[in-house]
Amino acid sequence: MRRIARRAFLESCAAASTALGGSPLLKGWVPMSKQRHVVVVGAGAFGGWTALHLLRGGARVTLVDAWGPGNSRASSGGETRVIRGTYGSRGIYTHLTARALQLWKEHERRWHRKLYHAIGVLWLVEGDDAYEKAALPLLKEAGLAFEELSGAETARRYPQINCERVRWAIFEKDGGYLTARRACAAVLEGFLAEGGEYRQLAAEPGAPHTTGELRGVTLSDGTTIVADAFVFACAPPARRSFFSARPRGTSGSPRRPCQSGRITARISCTGFPATSGAGSRSRTTRVGPPSTPRAASGCPRPRPCRRRGNISRFGSRA
Ligand SMILES: Cc1cc2nc3c(=O)[nH]c(=O)nc-3n(C[C@H](O)[C@H](O)[C@H](O)COP(=O)(O)OP(=O)(O)OC[C@H]3O[C@@H](n4cnc5c(N)ncnc54)[C@H](O)[C@@H]3O)c2cc1C
Repeated sequence: MRRIARRAFLESCAAASTALGGSPLLKGWVPMSKQRHVVVVGAGAFGGWTALHLLRGGARVTLVDAWGPGNSRASSGGETRVIRGTYGSRGIYTHLTARALQLWKEHERRWHRKLYHAIGVLWLVEGDDAYEKAALPLLKEAGLAFEELSGAETARRYPQINCERVRWAIFEKDGGYLTARRACAAVLEGFLAEGGEYRQLAAEPGAPHTTGELRGVTLSDGTTIVADAFVFACAPPARRSFFSARPRGTSGSPRRPCQSGRITARISCTGFPATSGAGSRSRTTRVGPPSTPRAASGCPRPRPCRRRGNISRFGSRA
């Protein structure tokens, strides 16, 4: 079993319009009698879709989650997640967004339920705009619809936003939000309907392995699932503890540790109006040059800075 780097995994997913043919996990895959068994740990956005695609690629797949898809402790939990294509010069994310949008829309039709709300995403720019400028050709290349608005036009269209310092804006027409936890639950339902297996149990460290190769995962009820390959799409502490056992043939979901000293006071932000009549959502989106980090932990304190920025932009409802 090979260990697959996060970037290679993402790139293979992005490239795989033939969905699975290109996945390194499925090279040489032989379905039916020699069907390989994959365990996916974590039923969040990454794990759920990975499990579904592996299943469709011919694998037998067991998906495991300690607390359920889109649970309150998970990154994929909560009500909404924005889908936007503006990622500066990082085209891989813009293309993944375009592909994700296509998949969500296809599956809304397939599952007869509304998960994605294409209400647009407004990206406000004030200071240095290299990030946004770099994104424009990539948005076009990925086929994502957007408009460039001048500061004056933004202020005219959105009188509820303080646009005093807004130089220009990107309005992503294809952008919008997913109903996050519901969407994860829908993916699990789809996975089960297509023959996937699901266990709502925690996978525990100390999995059986021989000569450094992972053979199985032990679950919190004391049972062990032996499989041919494993995908760890779980939260960072859990993932770290699995990886400390040095399993091979695994791939993990991407997550970064807190980056010390990288919050900027020059704020770009995105936002969208009411979701189901329940207020608005706005968030700062940029990390910029260093400011003063917190001495003890090395982590900046982003919240007060974000909140001040949001209040001055959107008023006290932010
Ligand atoms: C507040 C917030 C806002 C965000 N906003 C956006 C946004 O607007 N747009 C956007 O694109 N991204 C956004 N993100 C990022 C995005 O939500 C995450 O990148 C994504 O949800 C990560 O999904 P995941 O499947 O990797 O992780 P998770 O959703 O955390 O899934 C991991 C799963 O693993 C399970 N698990 C953990 N340990 C174990 C174990 N030992 N055994 C079994 N199961 C286990 C957990 O229960 C969980 O369900 C946001 C993140 C946060 C936190």
